[in-house]
Amino acid sequence: MSTGHILRVAVPSPLYRSFDYLPCAAAVGSPAPGVRVRVSFGRRQVVGVVVGVAEDSEFPRARLKRVAAVLDEEPLWSPGEFELLCWAARYYAHPVGEVLHAALPAPLRTGQATRPPGARHWRLTQAGREALAAGLSRAARQQALLALLAAHEEGLTAAGIEARLGSWRHLARPLETRGLVETFLAEEPPAESPVEDASARDEPPRLNAEQQAAFDALQGRLDGFAVHLLDGVTGSGKTEVYLRLIERVVGRGDQALVLVPEIGLTPQLVARFRHRFTTPLAVLHSGLADGERLGAWLRARSGQAAIVLGTRSAVFTPLSRPGLIIVDEEHDLSFKQQEGFRYSARDLAIVRAQGAGIPIVLGSATPSLESLQNVAAGRFARLELPRRAGRARAPAVAAVDLRRQHLDGGLSRVLVEAAGEALRAGNQVLLFLNRRGYAPVLLCHDCGWASPCRRCDARMTLHRVRERLCCHHCGAERAVDSRCEDCGGADLRPAGRGTQRVEEVLHRLFPDTPVIRVDRDSTRRRGELESRLARVDEGGPCILVGTQMLAKGHHFPRVTLAGLLDADQGLYGTDFRAGERMAQLITQVAGRAGRAERPGTVLIQTHHPDHPLLQCLLHQGYGAFAAAALTERRAAGLPPFTSLALVRAEAPGEAAPGAFLRAARERLQRRPAAVAVLGPVPAPMERRGGRYRAQLLLRAERRPALQQALAELVPALAELPEARRVRWSIDVDPQEIL
Ligand code: ADP
Ligand code: ZN
Ligand code: ZN
Repeated sequence: MSTGHILRVAVPSPLYRSFDYLPCAAAVGSPAPGVRVRVSFGRRQVVGVVVGVAEDSEFPRARLKRVAAVLDEEPLWSPGEFELLCWAARYYAHPVGEVLHAALPAPLRTGQATRPPGARHWRLTQAGREALAAGLSRAARQQALLALLAAHEEGLTAAGIEARLGSWRHLARPLETRGLVETFLAEEPPAESPVEDASARDEPPRLNAEQQAAFDALQGRLDGFAVHLLDGVTGSGKTEVYLRLIERVVGRGDQALVLVPEIGLTPQLVARFRHRFTTPLAVLHSGLADGERLGAWLRARSGQAAIVLGTRSAVFTPLSRPGLIIVDEEHDLSFKQQEGFRYSARDLAIVRAQGAGIPIVLGSATPSLESLQNVAAGRFARLELPRRAGRARAPAVAAVDLRRQHLDGGLSRVLVEAAGEALRAGNQVLLFLNRRGYAPVLLCHDCGWASPCRRCDARMTLHRVRERLCCHHCGAERAVDSRCEDCGGADLRPAGRGTQRVEEVLHRLFPDTPVIRVDRDSTRRRGELESRLARVDEGGPCILVGTQMLAKGHHFPRVTLAGLLDADQGLYGTDFRAGERMAQLITQVAGRAGRAERPGTVLIQTHHPDHPLLQCLLHQGYGAFAAAALTERRAAGLPPFTSLALVRAEAPGEAAPGAFLRAARERLQRRPAAVAVLGPVPAPMERRGGRYRAQLLLRAERRPALQQALAELVPALAELPEARRVRWSIDVDPQEIL
């Protein structure tokens, strides 16, 4: 019997364990943890990651398979980074193979080498050049593509062609078949090259007294782990403080990792970084092509990029010389992954900083209650920027009482007049409504039918642009009938309003003013968000109407009026965090008004102007609101004073989720535990996408008790007979109990 090491390999599978393999026949020595290997797993070949080396296996050696290939010469992560990933798998009770998989750029998941890949380019063939000269292609658009490629002998990437021709792939395909164009792999110039021209660099503003004080406190603590909460009102110059700190860190040869919310990573922000630093920047977000993403990841890992700017999953980017982590808008929900491996990038960033022994700065105008409680408990140090930077002043905020008011398309007279006034003065107006589409319901006036989704306990939203009913929960779509499905009546009326309808009303009320709608529908096409924002940047009077996408990050210096069309949506949410989210949203929307010299006004439309949450927020500000909310959470035994985990289950049949969760509950209750088990109960929207959903809530006063319960429960769940009839998942520190 042969001896030697056994490799423990994590493979991308939903199983809560690693698998044992014998080393590669040809290999000398054992690959270290963090190295990718190709192994056969079941009937497939998969890319796994070595997580450990052992002397023995619980299986006889003769039954173990050999690793087919070792894919890396050295581990992809440093030992500390690798430990973070393994820790995350344990903490979030998620299979380690899937965690490691999620942390890799897509090309590495399929076994590609860690070399920067070439990008696919298009060019003319000899036959193509001849065809062009002979004018052989009759279609004008095809001719244009041939001419474009003829003018770029070095070849063009898909993005390069699209930027010049718009949609083009349907043109290229027949040309490729005829052998007139071809593709090849070529090095792309590094996408994130530094600004070489020193004159193009921005001169930083002088820090004001508060910024200076915050900066001084932070730069005095750049050695060693510490968590700082930079609590600064919108427009107070937090980003400016980050930039100075990064300058310090980069100046001494270290790297800075900057995490921003999904919609916070705007071209504006990237440009601001580009114009400040001469060091290379790696930008990581979900909109990148695989090759671009891998390139950025590799530049971060090699240390070539001194600054790494990215969204949620960038928290896993390896760094060769970590020096500082910044999480901007730390309260933002997009830092929490809501499916699959449900991690919090903010929380992992803190664990990462601790492991690496470096400081971390969490910034927000509306800190999460978790972070504020950590300040109160002395775990985080708080730095405040109470005033807007430069000459901007805080906006005046007022509630507009909608009761008994005449509304025109959801707009009160007060708001319409204020908008008219702002526009006449040459300013811009921003209106916020967290509902896309035309109307949330199409209603039959004869029988009351209200456009239900057939697969969800929800209504379908009417979209006017495409004349379709769309379910925002499961994605179902159907054409709008001219008659009611139930009674055949012809009097179908849109009820309520979404951004499309508000846009229509605004066109009628302000026929001479451009209305720019920004929501997921209007910005689906690549580059569309940028071009819409560019129109705002031009500075002429206009009305911006949009959803969440408008609430954050953007700097609109000419907006003097911000209006929230419907604040009531959030006042009575079912989630215990609904109040916190509403207060953050109102404060962030308010933060879009009057960010430059022109003073701003914020109008909040509501049917409940006396609601205590709103009153507290308007008269005392977010800090006072948060303090009151924390007192309530403590009394109710809710986070951040307790820890929660949610077990969710769903199935096509109504009974299976409950049966599974009752079995899970049974297992939990066999042991006397410091963990309370609540439920199972149906999810607030019980049926979604044709599946019934239920959930079981685990609550503990102390986090370790919850962790221990999960460690015992989760592997056992997979073994339950009831598990075969459901899809189930665990959400530790859930952000939405929905
Ligand atoms: P935040 O990140 O807190 O929202 P920013 O750093 O984006 O704030 O600053 C808001 C605006 O104020 C930006 O246009 C920025 O250039 C400007 N600004 C920041 N600090 C100063 C300063 N010390 N003096 C003048 N303008 C400043
Ligand atoms: Zn009807
Ligand atoms: Zn649906």
